[in-house]
Amino acid sequence: MAVHFGYRSAINLQELKLTTSKKSCQLYEMKRLIPFLAILMLLCGCQGKNLKLSNSEKLTTEQITAAWTSGKTIRVDNFKEKLSTRPLFAEQPVVADKGYNVLIDMAHECSFVTLWDLPERLNKSGYRAIGSHATVNTVLDSKGFSRVRVLYDTVNKIYPFAWWPNAKYDVIITEQSTPKAQDYTDAEIAAMVQFVRKGGGLIIQGYAIRRAGPAGPPDNGEWSLNKLAAVFGGKFTDQDTTISGIRWAKMKLSEEWSSVYPGTSVKPENTSPNPLIARATESTSPNPLLRKEGARELPRNVLAIRKFGRGRVVMCGNLSAIRRSGKDSEERKALADSLLSKMMTVLTEFQKPVGGTLHLPQTMEGGGAIYPELEDNFSNIVFYYAANQKPELLKTVKDDVPKAQAFIQQRLPSTPTAEPMYLILCAGGGGGWAVNIYKPKENGIISLDGHGILSIFGHELAHTMFGPANDEGKIAGIAPIPDRGEAHAGWFQGKVNALFKPDLLDKANRECNSMFAYDPKGNAMDLATCYENEAMNQKWGYGKDWIKTWYIWQKIDDRYGPSWYPKWKWVQHTRWKDDPEHHLTWDEMVEDMSIAVGEDLFPFFIKVGTTLNKKRLEQIEFQGNKITLRVAPIDVTPAGAVRMEEVVLR
Ligand SMILES: [Zn+2]
Repeated sequence: MAVHFGYRSAINLQELKLTTSKKSCQLYEMKRLIPFLAILMLLCGCQGKNLKLSNSEKLTTEQITAAWTSGKTIRVDNFKEKLSTRPLFAEQPVVADKGYNVLIDMAHECSFVTLWDLPERLNKSGYRAIGSHATVNTVLDSKGFSRVRVLYDTVNKIYPFAWWPNAKYDVIITEQSTPKAQDYTDAEIAAMVQFVRKGGGLIIQGYAIRRAGPAGPPDNGEWSLNKLAAVFGGKFTDQDTTISGIRWAKMKLSEEWSSVYPGTSVKPENTSPNPLIARATESTSPNPLLRKEGARELPRNVLAIRKFGRGRVVMCGNLSAIRRSGKDSEERKALADSLLSKMMTVLTEFQKPVGGTLHLPQTMEGGGAIYPELEDNFSNIVFYYAANQKPELLKTVKDDVPKAQAFIQQRLPSTPTAEPMYLILCAGGGGGWAVNIYKPKENGIISLDGHGILSIFGHELAHTMFGPANDEGKIAGIAPIPDRGEAHAGWFQGKVNALFKPDLLDKANRECNSMFAYDPKGNAMDLATCYENEAMNQKWGYGKDWIKTWYIWQKIDDRYGPSWYPKWKWVQHTRWKDDPEHHLTWDEMVEDMSIAVGEDLFPFFIKVGTTLNKKRLEQIEFQGNKITLRVAPIDVTPAGAVRMEEVVLR
C-alpha cells in the first residue's frame, strides 16, 4: 500500500505516473463512513464564481446541487453557527489527541507523502493535520476562508466545495526539494514570520541542491526556500553530509540556532545553545535508537532549532529524514518516526493547543484537505490554482488543456457528467490523482512541466470516461481489463502525449513495442491469469501487463483505426444492459471486442498467449442479429504508429 514518492527529477514521469495512479485508485476503495449531514445556510445570491451565503436559513438540496453542478464553491459567513449538530467533516482519527493543529503546506511542493501519509502519521502521534494547496498567507488569514470539501450527502456521496473559515494552527510544516518548484511569495513569508512571532512552530525542510549546469541556480542562495529560511537566519547550502544513512544539506545558520538534540557530541559552532530551548528540552533523554543510529551526532548544521518572537523554528536539511516507506528497514522507519516526533515535541511543548473539535477537513482519498484559493472557468472546467503558481504552467492549462479535452472527448465519446470537471494544479512535480467515488469528481495534477500537465490531464480525464452509453444512456458490464482503469487511462494519455509531442507520432502508442523486450515472442505473458495482481508483479514487474495491453490495442488500432475502442465499450454497455453488474470473463470481453471490430479476435488473443476457453468465434448474436466473423488476420509483429484520427461511430 505504501508508495514511495520520488522527489528527484530523474524519476521518469510515466513510471511515476503508473505508481501514483495505482495508489490513488486503490485509495478509492478505502471509505470512511460518516453520518449524513446537512448544511444550514442560505443562498443570498450568486456572485461571480462563488455561492455566497449569509442569512440563517437552510440551503435547499436544489440550491446545493445548483452550486456544485455549476462549479461554484459554497460560502458561509458564520459557518459554525450555521452548521447543524452534524459535522461537515469526518472526525480525524487522532490517537490520544494532544490538541495541536498542524498545517501541512503543499503549496510549494505536493507529494503523496504530504498529501496522504504524513497526515495519517501525525494523527497516529496525537496531532491533528490539515494539508493545504493554498498559499500560506490565505490559510493563515484570521478573517479568511479555506476551500474545502464538505460531507453534504454521504448517502449519495455528494461532497461539494465550500469556503470554510480558516482554522487556527499551532505548527506549520513546509518543504521543497527543488528550486524549480513554486516560489514562496513575499506575502507568504510575511505571514509565516508573523505566525512564528506570535508563538507558532514552523518546520522548514529542504535539500542540498547541486548546481545543475550553467542553467541551474548558482548556489542555493537564490532558491525561494532559502528566501524564507533567510528571514530566520538560515540557509540550505549546496554542500551535503551523510549521517545515519541520510544525505543532509549542510545548513548555514545564524548564532541563534542550536541543535535539536542538546548535549550532542558535536557542539554548535559560534554559540552556546539557546537557554530557553535547552531548558525546554533537557527533560528529554536522548533516544537510544537515535544514539544507535547516530542521530546523537546530528549537529545543528543539519537539524536545528531557534526561538523567534514567541515561537520556534526548526530547519531540517533533508525532507526525507522524517519519511518512511514500506521498503525501509525497521531501524530507518523508527528513526523517521523518532525525528518527526522530536520536531513536533520541540515545536509544541511551549504552546497552548488550539484544541476544539476533531471534525476538521481532511483528504478524502483525493486532494485537499484545503484546495488552492484561486480559480478560473473555461471549457466546462473549473480550474483551481494557488497565487504562487507559475505563469507558464497556467498558460499551458488555459491554452492546451481544452485542446487535450476536446481531443479525448472526440475519441472516447461518453455521457457528459452533470458537473464541470474540477481540475486542481498543485505544486511540484510527479503525478496526479482522480476522484471518481464521490461528487463532484476532481482531478489533481502535480507537474512542473507543460507536457507533464497535459499528459496527466489526459490520463485523469480518461479515468472519468466510460465510453459510449447504451441506448438507455447507461453503462453496463464489468470487464476484466478494468473499465476506466489504468490501461484505459494510460492509452488515452499516450495519445495526448503524441498530440503535443510530434516526435511521438511515428511511434506506437506508449511505445508498447517495448513488450518484446520482456516477452520476445509476445506469447509468454498470459493476461487472463496475470493482470494487475501480485503474480504479475512478481513474474514480470509492475506495469508490464499494461504495456502488453497497449500492444494488443495498438495492433487492433493498426487494423481497424481508433474507432474500435469506443465501439467496443458501446457493445459492452449494450450487450450486458440486462445485467449491468456482470463481471465478464476474458472470453466474454473478447467477444465484445470481436463484435466491435466485426472480426474474430480470439485467434489473435490466443497468439499473444491469453488463456481463453474458445478457440474461435465464428458466429455470435448481438441485438437480435446473428453476426458471422472471419478470423482477424493479425500477427504478433511489431505494432505500428499511434493512431490519432477522429473516431466515427456506427
Ligand atoms: Zn490512473
